[in-house]
Amino acid sequence: MPLIEVRGLKTYFYTEDGIVRAVDGVDYTIEQEKTLGVVGESGCGKSVTALSIMGLVQSPPGKIEDGEILFHRDGKVMDLTKFNPKGREMRSIRGNEIAMIFQEPMTSLNPVYTIGNQIMEAIILHQELNKAEAKTKAVEMLRAVGIPLPEQRVDEYPHQLSGGMRQRAMIAMAMSCNPSLLIADEPTTALDVTIQAQVLELMNALRQEFQASIQFITHDLGVIAGMADDVVVMYLGRIVEASNVREVFHNSKHPYTQGLMHSIPSLAADKERLEPIKGVVPDPFETPPGCGFEPRCPHAMEICKTKMPELREVAPGHTAACYLYE
Ligand code: SF4
Repeated sequence: MPLIEVRGLKTYFYTEDGIVRAVDGVDYTIEQEKTLGVVGESGCGKSVTALSIMGLVQSPPGKIEDGEILFHRDGKVMDLTKFNPKGREMRSIRGNEIAMIFQEPMTSLNPVYTIGNQIMEAIILHQELNKAEAKTKAVEMLRAVGIPLPEQRVDEYPHQLSGGMRQRAMIAMAMSCNPSLLIADEPTTALDVTIQAQVLELMNALRQEFQASIQFITHDLGVIAGMADDVVVMYLGRIVEASNVREVFHNSKHPYTQGLMHSIPSLAADKERLEPIKGVVPDPFETPPGCGFEPRCPHAMEICKTKMPELREVAPGHTAACYLYE
């Protein structure tokens, strides 16, 4: 059963220097209680897609130009693009039904309020609990995310917690209203690898406990392996490959995904050097008229320079946008 269906989403930014087509016709579905990994380099549109779902695209200069974001809840289907981002409906969904955590908790947590007060704020706003009940719930959530001595930590300020603990506190805040979708935008990038593994494990456990779905955004295909059920790979505002995680890892089709795979360090592989993808992501104001990956692609053909490839099925349940498969 789908929880969120993104259909033909286009989110553009109108700047003095021109139009940036940050998300340019994106389609994907997140199933209930599943994790979708969204992978790509900086500027590929993965975070703007998430902000579009949350109704947090800054306007101006940003605008959802086209498409639908269909949210399934209690047998009803709502198109989130139709709601006023600052209106009552969207405020009741944001933070309550759909919550988001970011890469660096210090930029999201307010340094002058205690961790407890910040978790309680969301609980009081969305769950109509009084202050004492909200504090009990905040302690419960800190315990659920594995913060030791939660009765004490609830009254501490963000700077008194380590980076890993702050990220756990952010997850506690996001999960405190039992959302059906948690959007995690590079949540482990700022953490060292052991803490990263613990946070990923925690998110997997919470997803099951709270029966939530996760949209997990990362530039690191390696992180996705243990987290996601399905994966979409984005490049220059478009999806270039999509399938289940096993298929993407063992049978990747798009040259960009293959490039990402070759740049993952592996203890098992017998190679002395990683192979980076050559070149850089094109200037967003001067995107190529054909395939966006053409300037960097080792398999580029004449047609790739002039005509944009469409996503097509290349194996059952596996799509890629590349002329190699036409
Ligand atoms: Fe490479 Fe052409 Fe495929 Fe683009 S369409 S990824 S340029 S082969």
